[in-house]
Amino acid sequence: MTDGARMATRPGVPPREVATHCPYCALQCGMALRETGGRVEVTPRQFPTNRGGLCQKGWTAAELLDHPDRLTTPLLRDRPGDELRPATWDEALDRVAAGLRAVQDRHGPDAVAVFGGGGLTNEKAYALGKFARVALRTRHIDYNGRWCMSSAAAAGIRAFGVDRGLPFPVADLGRTDTLLLVGANPAETMPPLLRHLTDQRERGGQLIVIDPRLTATARQATRHLQPLPGTDLAVANALLHIALTEGWLDRTYVAERTTGFEEVRRTVAGYWPAEVERLSGVPVADLEATARALATVDRAVILTARGAEQHAKGVDTVTAFINLALALGLPGRPGSGYGCLTGQGNGQGGREHGQKADQLPGYRRIDDPAARSHVAGVWGVPADDLPGPGVPAYALLDSLGTATGPRALLVFGSNPVVSAPRAARVESRLRDLDLLVVADFLRSETAALADVVLPVAQWAEEDGTMTNLEGRVLRRRALREPPPGVRTDLEVLADLAARLAARGHFPTDPAAVFTELRRASAGGPADYAGVTWDRIDADTGVFWPCPDPAGPDTPRLFADRFPTPDGRARFRAVRHRPAAEPVCAEYPLHFTTGRVLAQYQSGAQTRRVAALRRAAPGGFVELHPDLADRLGVADGDEVRVVSRRGELRAPARLSPAIRPDTVFAPFHWPGTARANSVTNDAVDPVSGMPEFKICAVRVERA
Ligand code: SF4
Repeated sequence: MTDGARMATRPGVPPREVATHCPYCALQCGMALRETGGRVEVTPRQFPTNRGGLCQKGWTAAELLDHPDRLTTPLLRDRPGDELRPATWDEALDRVAAGLRAVQDRHGPDAVAVFGGGGLTNEKAYALGKFARVALRTRHIDYNGRWCMSSAAAAGIRAFGVDRGLPFPVADLGRTDTLLLVGANPAETMPPLLRHLTDQRERGGQLIVIDPRLTATARQATRHLQPLPGTDLAVANALLHIALTEGWLDRTYVAERTTGFEEVRRTVAGYWPAEVERLSGVPVADLEATARALATVDRAVILTARGAEQHAKGVDTVTAFINLALALGLPGRPGSGYGCLTGQGNGQGGREHGQKADQLPGYRRIDDPAARSHVAGVWGVPADDLPGPGVPAYALLDSLGTATGPRALLVFGSNPVVSAPRAARVESRLRDLDLLVVADFLRSETAALADVVLPVAQWAEEDGTMTNLEGRVLRRRALREPPPGVRTDLEVLADLAARLAARGHFPTDPAAVFTELRRASAGGPADYAGVTWDRIDADTGVFWPCPDPAGPDTPRLFADRFPTPDGRARFRAVRHRPAAEPVCAEYPLHFTTGRVLAQYQSGAQTRRVAALRRAAPGGFVELHPDLADRLGVADGDEVRVVSRRGELRAPARLSPAIRPDTVFAPFHWPGTARANSVTNDAVDPVSGMPEFKICAVRVERA
């Protein structure tokens, strides 16, 4: 029995059961929910991604449905400094509408901003983007997926002309001969994925992991490369250098399916393995063995994740691995390719339907006149009325309440007080706003700062679709109605649009929103026109692009051509550069962040689940024993990790799994253990992705 099953029963209510998916990560494991007399039980369900498995987070997901912390009434702060107090929906929505109107009357449409989340369903992400552009007429919308996926997305578009996390089904991983994971730790972030990796190794395949820590995933690897954080790009260029030196280039593939190789060849010629060993700490022998393992097998896959991507050079780092994959002829070959492991539940769909500052639904660019015209036609407004591109998430949050930035912010499904880099500064920006509105089902750390909190439905209380890490569109199904007093995000947007007397139609039925989304995405890179809920129900989801309801979907991309103007993938030469903040005498250690098995993202949900709290009760700082010895720190001692931006305090956890020059902290906790008090807000110039994965710190006993 799960903790979620230990809930008050309501005798006499017949059992209800629904086949749905986990509310958390992008693996979107299949699960069944069964409610008997008010008690909700989770059981795993066979689905291609999880094959009957769930992690602890999925097993316990139902506990939040009836959690005592659940918000069931709007909250309102009358004046700065007052406590939040319960309010009626009319009172709360009137206050929001009046506040938005006042700010826009005084400062213009862009004085209101919207911040979304990678956990919102496709329908909600679409409606939120439409609400921002049509009802608020602001260019300022972005979302927390910018923290997760933006570098891989930008690199994918640059190279392949499209961004779909995995361009093949996850089951292909089990059939590849060599799998290279770069900065990915699925053993803790999405454990059921390991079923595919176990298959792969049982078939004799090699698993190679590049990670500065000997993670739970790296422990299972055939080979573990442990570079200094921030040197993955150099490692990738060295691997390509070796492949070219050894004559492993797929000349036919490069000639027929790619452009731009010569400049890459010239660039990687300078990445001598011995020099890259000095830079990264990865022995030449490991570089050579890795290049050989990728280049001399029939099928090989390279996957990146946040460890490689969350850097101020994240786009170029991913590009370096894509260059390697292209040179070996992997993308589009069965059982081979490049992909990235998406993190958030709808990180993929969330970035396809208009939550991103520069995008319209269907993964269209908002600065493309044809795209504007098409989407404006679906929305029933003149194309010229649509605002232009906004700014990426950190730039948006860092401008809040300043002389030139937005004065009001609506937050849906996000908790930037914990998840944003340089979080204390973001928190202070939020406090400077004239109006902060948060729609959530729990009182997150961001909701606690709000002027108005709107209690919304959660995952098992509304229908919708999600798009998982494979680009597979799935059905999320409601088990039960939201509790009394709670509205859905779609209802909130419709209520606000009505109060603002906004143009456009904002349906509250997710099926109607999805029908409109299909029309808006038609002809775009992420074309959902042929995806219907019935079609999803009839099979195990539908892979985009799927332009025709009667035509096939696309489980595998790039078999014959890439969706670029000339049909070829594009190499691009990239060079290593140091981290934005190098270590120095005052801050001599590298600091990196990540996740633990029993918590998810900012922890607003999972920190409230009893079993998860028992498994991972609080933050910690992982230190190598040699470093701890130098610092005079014993296991369990409270330590301070101090950067130029702030500090965190947490117990030391000594482990030989980490390099002696690097310290690690998970980022799920607020308060003094908040890892993002320390992280750097330097961003990638292309993607706007912050450099979560490396900054300079010193560590002291507290
Ligand atoms: S958190 Fe991810 S891996 Fe765990 S059960 Fe949910 S979808 Fe599956």
